[in-house]
Amino acid sequence: MATIRQLDDALSNKIAAGEVVERPASIVKELVENALDAGSTTILVELEEAGLGSIRVVDNGSGITPEDVETAFLRHATSKIQTDRDLFQIQTLGFRGEALPSIASVSHVLLRTSTGQGKGVELTLEGGHLESRKAAHARKGTELMISQLFYNTPARLKYLKTTHTESGHVSDVMNRLAMSNPDVSFEYVHNQKQVLKTAGNGDIRQVMAQIYGRTIASKLVSFSESSLDYTVNGYVCLPEVNRSSRQYMSIYINGRYIRNYALSQAILKGFHTLLPIGRYPIAVIQIEMNPMLVDVNVHPAKLEVRLSKEAELGDLLISSIKKVFQEQQLIPKQQQPK
Ligand code: ADP
Ligand code: MG
Repeated sequence: MATIRQLDDALSNKIAAGEVVERPASIVKELVENALDAGSTTILVELEEAGLGSIRVVDNGSGITPEDVETAFLRHATSKIQTDRDLFQIQTLGFRGEALPSIASVSHVLLRTSTGQGKGVELTLEGGHLESRKAAHARKGTELMISQLFYNTPARLKYLKTTHTESGHVSDVMNRLAMSNPDVSFEYVHNQKQVLKTAGNGDIRQVMAQIYGRTIASKLVSFSESSLDYTVNGYVCLPEVNRSSRQYMSIYINGRYIRNYALSQAILKGFHTLLPIGRYPIAVIQIEMNPMLVDVNVHPAKLEVRLSKEAELGDLLISSIKKVFQEQQLIPKQQQPK
């Protein structure tokens, strides 16, 4: 008798959810990234009880057609890539087609969406199973409401930390997304209290002022440097303002927030000896490169990426940040260490 069986969709989605949907903040990240990929200019995120009550994301993006709306909840169903070649030319934040089926498999979902043409659709799902479908309002955009999160994965529910910690993770996610998309207006409301609202007027300094406060924003210096393969646009705070954690160094590659040890070390090297030992800078570094040079298909949440010419990029970061401080006369030019 055969003992090896292919798992059914519900179970394999739940397994995938283990990687993609770690906590409420991961859901917020996936849903807001979908809203951004859909070309939204305003995105509202509302949470009750740090997401354990509910998570609601409303956007004014393209919407999903009535034909596509159920497919969107199937595993590996995506409108963002089609062929092998596309995988090496990723221009969108999503491409794995995993977020919606994973989230749906561990929660109750209400989706309302419309392309602005004809009638929209409203769906409800429980644990990934379609419960209802009807025609809905015609305003262009998408609204997703997640409730009963982790109702069928008790271990995951237990692992969640306090409301305070979980809502802090959501704030981090929202701040990072807002800083890399200054032309999008974000509003984040937790337990009916507004936590963040950005104007969406393209002014990143204004976004940073809202997140870090006006004093810090007034001490930001911007720079822009290019090499053959990379363009780096950055904001670094003067070293007199510093932090005890690395997490205030935000690095983005082609609009995607990433974690990369070598690149954060390069930022630190750029500060040279200007920071006390054990202190870290506030920096927002946006790197643009040919998508061929970066493999984002490494990590389910796409936080880690593989770069073809990491050392070259690191050198560009070090030299551009050093140049900023030379211009500020914080590092003497002739003593520029190699
Ligand atoms: P991915 O983002 O990797 O394609 P998802 O599971 O997150 O996979 O979403 C599946 C598909 O549903 C997307 O490819 C997109 O076509 C559609 N979709 C999801 N969210 C939205 C949204 N907010 N607006 C428009 N389309 C959406
Ligand atoms: Mg997605």
